[in-house]
Amino acid sequence: MLANLNDILPKARKFGYAVGAFNTSNLEITQGIIETAESMRSPVIVATSEKAITYAGIENISQIIITLAKKAKIPVVLHLDHGSSYEICRACIHHGYTSVMIDASRLAFKENVKVTKKVVGYAHQHKVSVEAEIGRLAGIEDEVKVLKHEAIYTDPDQARRFAVESGCDALAIAIGTSHGAYKYKGKAQLRIDILEEIAEQVNLPLVLHGASGVKSKWIDHVNRFGGALEHTKGVPDTLIKQAVRHGIAKINTDTDLRIAFTAGIREYLSRHRDEFDPRAIIDHARDMIARVVDDRIRVFGSINRA
Ligand SMILES: [Zn+2]
Repeated sequence: MLANLNDILPKARKFGYAVGAFNTSNLEITQGIIETAESMRSPVIVATSEKAITYAGIENISQIIITLAKKAKIPVVLHLDHGSSYEICRACIHHGYTSVMIDASRLAFKENVKVTKKVVGYAHQHKVSVEAEIGRLAGIEDEVKVLKHEAIYTDPDQARRFAVESGCDALAIAIGTSHGAYKYKGKAQLRIDILEEIAEQVNLPLVLHGASGVKSKWIDHVNRFGGALEHTKGVPDTLIKQAVRHGIAKINTDTDLRIAFTAGIREYLSRHRDEFDPRAIIDHARDMIARVVDDRIRVFGSINRA
């Protein structure tokens, strides 16, 4: 069934587990996500970025997800990931999204509040939930330099003011993760101390972005069948679990799905060199998506919570 963040996240924060938000851009990835969550009786968030929307077409991708969500016996949130403007949030709501993220974290505090508030006003009229972001996650390029710099971490006091003033339903914070496959040069770490302070000040479900595990076994899987991916450090399961214990109630996963999908395609094609049926090839990639989703749901603790 379709749901929004308010149907699932406050409960998650209260009972100490997190719900996974998994990024999709096509039919098979969406099936892998929803079918796996349903089989584990876990609520799930299916997210599309603006790029995914451009790739698939907003009507196409939203209808695929809505159709599958309605049939599922678990709460499924159709969520916009990192919406960059009021307009894109509005367009998604028009196409049946039950949740949007407005990411105005690049703007100054006041401007971030202003844009978020505007989105909240429109979204809440349509019973759509809103995630916002405060603090900045490092990007792939700036990783090393920015990670060492305090300025990217969310300030707990600002987070409290932002939550109250903007009226958002969930808040993404920066505590040391980064987007993409190249997260850490040295030891993986999260600023649990900052998270604790934010969780004390902010009663909303908190969101962790850039939290893929980028596990060696998946990199090896890709490379065993002709890939050339670099081994990098993601966020280990132990740190994820620690973050969940301290108030993180939504965790995003994109990179891990991409790597698993690639592993599935590469493996299938090299094992079946005479195959040219796209269905057989992508079916195997869908199985790999399912394996990652299964693994993540166990780590997040949302199994049997639907
Ligand atoms: Zn993100």
